[in-house]
Amino acid sequence: MNNSSSIYTGRFAPSPSGPLHFGSLVAALASYLDARANHGRWLVRMEDIDPPREPSGTADQILRTLEAYGLQWDDSVLFQSDRSEAYQAILDNLLSRQLLYPCTCTRKQLADSKGVYPSDSRDNTKLPDSPYSLRLKCPDKTITFHDLIQGQQTWNLYESGDFILKRKDQLFAYQLAVSVDDAFQGITHVIRGCDLLDSTPRQLHLQHILGYSHPDYGHIPVITLHDGNKLSKQNHAPAIPLDNPRPSLVQAMKALGMMPEKELSASTIEDILTWGVKHWNLNPIKKAQEIPLASL
Ligand code: GLU
Repeated sequence: MNNSSSIYTGRFAPSPSGPLHFGSLVAALASYLDARANHGRWLVRMEDIDPPREPSGTADQILRTLEAYGLQWDDSVLFQSDRSEAYQAILDNLLSRQLLYPCTCTRKQLADSKGVYPSDSRDNTKLPDSPYSLRLKCPDKTITFHDLIQGQQTWNLYESGDFILKRKDQLFAYQLAVSVDDAFQGITHVIRGCDLLDSTPRQLHLQHILGYSHPDYGHIPVITLHDGNKLSKQNHAPAIPLDNPRPSLVQAMKALGMMPEKELSASTIEDILTWGVKHWNLNPIKKAQEIPLASL
C-alpha cells in the first residue's frame, strides 16, 4: 500500500543533538524544494527522543535557523518528546502479537557477531530483571523498493538483524518513532540523506506489520570532509551562519545538482528559493552516496 493518492506531504526531521550544519541544510533544502515543486505540504518534526544527547536550546536554535534560511514549514512542529504514549501503545500491540522479545545483549556480544544480533534468544517471552531492550523479530525477507534518487534497492532484513524498538535505557528507538510519526503525519515523500538508506527497509517492514501506508523515498548524497568522514554533529561540523544564509543556500543547491548563476547569491532569500523550486529536478542529483564538500 502506498500513499500516492494523498496530497504530497514531505518533512524534515532533525534530531536536536547539535545545530544545523551544511549537510543538514542540504537535506532540509532537498525535502523542502521537492515538496514545494510538487505543490505539497512541508512539515518539520523535531526528533527529540534522546534527551542526554540534546543540549538545551538546540531544538529552538534549529527552528530559528530554518526560518532564517526561508524554509518555512506548514502546520505546527511535532515534537517526538510529546509522543511517548503513542509509541508505547504500538510497542504493546507488537508485544501482544509476540513480535518483540527482550534482549540483554552487551555491546561486546554484538561486536563479536559483527553488529548483527545473534537471534538465539528470540523465543524469550519472560521480561528479565536486568535492563533489556526490545527487539523486533525480523523474518528472512527481501525488501525491494525504488528509491527516487538511488534507483532500485534490495535488502535482506534478516541479514541486517533484529533491530531495537525500545532501548535498554528505556528510551524509544529511532526506527519506531520515525515509522509511527511518518504515518501519523500522513507523510507521502521522505527525502533525506543516504546515511539513512539502510534504515528504509526496516521502516518499510514496520509500516507493513503495522498496516501503514508506505511513503516514497529518495536519498540524497551526504556531504563529506577531506578525510572522507561525513559532515555530522558527531564530528563537530560547524553550524551554518544565521546572519548570512544566502551563500550557503546557493552552495546547497549546487550539492543537489543545480546550477545557479553566480548572481543568485545576491538575490533575496525568497528569490533564491523561488529559483530553486522552479529549477528543481531529481535527475541531476548524484547517485553517489557521498559528495566531498571541497568539490562544491
Ligand atoms: N532525525 C534523523 C536525523 O537527524 C533523521 C530522520 C529521518 O529523516 O528519517 O538524522
